[in-house]
Amino acid sequence: MASIGHVAVGMALGRFEAGAPPWRRRVAVMVFMSLLALLPDADVVAFALRIPYSAPWGHRGASHSFVFAGLVALAVAGLARWRGGSATRWGLLALAAVGSHGILDALTDGGLGAALFWPFSHARVFAPVRPLPVSPIGAGMLSARGLYVSLVELLVFLPAWAYALWPTRRARARPEAG
Ligand SMILES: [Zn+2]
Repeated sequence: MASIGHVAVGMALGRFEAGAPPWRRRVAVMVFMSLLALLPDADVVAFALRIPYSAPWGHRGASHSFVFAGLVALAVAGLARWRGGSATRWGLLALAAVGSHGILDALTDGGLGAALFWPFSHARVFAPVRPLPVSPIGAGMLSARGLYVSLVELLVFLPAWAYALWPTRRARARPEAG
């Protein structure tokens, strides 16, 4: 999947956590959640390292598994606790952000599936239905195909965008319009 859908999920989770003002915190949390949602795709470095796509540490491999999401969630929970926040809340948010990545990739119609059950199984898994078009990798995004995939993801994730970006009303005492 192109990055757009993952960012939409991250931003929606950020809005969920930081729905109330101040603005700066909301933006910071949205950026952080989006980075978490994108994190599994850091594995594209595998192509540069000549690790085959189908290898356990190849693209859509271990980093796209639920175990990896759990490990990142534990790290984020620890960080939250250290900073005086709720470890449970932040752990669950991180789990949702990172864990959603592999699931969304498993909904795409091409490439190899995601190794959701690594390290217990190296099988690359696809969902029974795969409505999302797979995106080209790297510079391939700058093509007609890349544009098409980006547009589809913008549309499919419209509810997430709307939720994340919906303006909040200012808390201001206003006389009732009558
Ligand atoms: Zn991915």
